[in-house]
Amino acid sequence: MNTVDDIVSADGRFRAEFVRREDGTHGYVSFINTNNAASPVWKQDWRDVSRFESRDIALFEATGRLAWLKKEADWPAKDHEPIAASQYTPGWIKCPFCGLRFYLADPDRWGGSRHLTCGQRIIDTGHS
Ligand SMILES: [Zn+2]
Repeated sequence: MNTVDDIVSADGRFRAEFVRREDGTHGYVSFINTNNAASPVWKQDWRDVSRFESRDIALFEATGRLAWLKKEADWPAKDHEPIAASQYTPGWIKCPFCGLRFYLADPDRWGGSRHLTCGQRIIDTGHS
């Protein structure tokens, strides 16, 4: 089995590894991080065993089945350049793309470099 691609979610909690087998079929293996984003410990999710004709089909199917991958594929700002933003109140940023205000300690909203609602990459310039 050869790994052809490896995608980790922006929040560091999930991962999908795309593989090509010796018989030419493709598949993906999904993992869950049982530790934290800084030092991940990946546990394979055995519910996802897959066999597809091509890498493109494997990615399409994985995106349909893995909620985090679908969410990230649907982000309107996922491919945008990073934008600098300052904290208008310590710990709070207003997303320069979608305009939502969010708390930096909220792991469902902030992935360390991305707003997890719209996918915009943000450079946190702190509070001034
Ligand atoms: Zn946003």
